[in-house]
Amino acid sequence: MTSSPLSSSLRGQRIPRILALANQKGGVGKTTTAINLGTALAAIGERVLVVDLDPQGNASTGLGIERRRRIVSTYQVLTGEQDLAAAIQETAVPGLSVAPSTMDLLGIELEISQQRDRAQRLRRALAGLPPRSEDGEPPFTYILIDCPPSLNLLTINALAAADAVLVPLQCEFFALEGLSQLLKTVEQVRTSLNSRLSIHGVVLTMFDPRNNLANQVVADVRQFMGPKVYDTVIPRNVRVSEAPSHGKPVLLYDLKCTGSQAYLRLASEIIQRERMLAAA
Ligand code: ADP
Ligand code: MG
Repeated sequence: MTSSPLSSSLRGQRIPRILALANQKGGVGKTTTAINLGTALAAIGERVLVVDLDPQGNASTGLGIERRRRIVSTYQVLTGEQDLAAAIQETAVPGLSVAPSTMDLLGIELEISQQRDRAQRLRRALAGLPPRSEDGEPPFTYILIDCPPSLNLLTINALAAADAVLVPLQCEFFALEGLSQLLKTVEQVRTSLNSRLSIHGVVLTMFDPRNNLANQVVADVRQFMGPKVYDTVIPRNVRVSEAPSHGKPVLLYDLKCTGSQAYLRLASEIIQRERMLAAA
């Protein structure tokens, strides 16, 4: 690992950078991107935390945290029973940690919906992380929040806590459907809860070049979202879908496959964008 990644990639930025992976559609690649972008960022020297905010817990599983090991989860963090630090576990990837979720999260909406601070629970939990770890460096430089497939209170908590939103879009016919609803929600959160919230970018996932329609979708999304769309497109790759059943990110499962290589490119692109933001 090189010396401090902070000095190079995040100079002048608030640390950690908090990115919410959000799209109310299921199956578009949020969790896959949280796991593999997190791994790729860690591989290039960042210190990364994935916060699993989906009751399904797929990010936790894909990062090798079996259900019986989820003693403290994001559920207890959001109810206020536990600090976020108590939920965090290291993964097999050096520099990558996860705060796992459990099915209990399904009940959170009912449990805290009457509380005034219901939308700020995650933000407060993140603010409570220690600013430095034992080596004097911040414990995390990037925090990726894996949202559930809904614009519910969990996603609102993620948006209220984040610096920016990263939107995975699947290269399929209905890719843009629902995007305006998501953008509207982001705008509402920006005006009511979190004025610093921005759209970091849109990542096109599961691209199959043999499918003519997929090429058209890429063109449409680029036209609609302009430079917000990352240059990197994540290809559909069977290795990516196999990896979670081994409890591994695809970068550990098969570093050479096209999916792994694409997530490494996406990580560099994100860091590049961060540098531009910091310089602006
Ligand atoms: P979401 O979190 O948005 O619901 P997932 O990340 O769980 O979406 O992805 C949905 C499904 O698609 C999963 O089975 C996942 O393994 C598969 N998948 C995601 N990205 C790819 C890819 N690039 N190539 C092949 N399969 C993928
Ligand atoms: Mg998911």
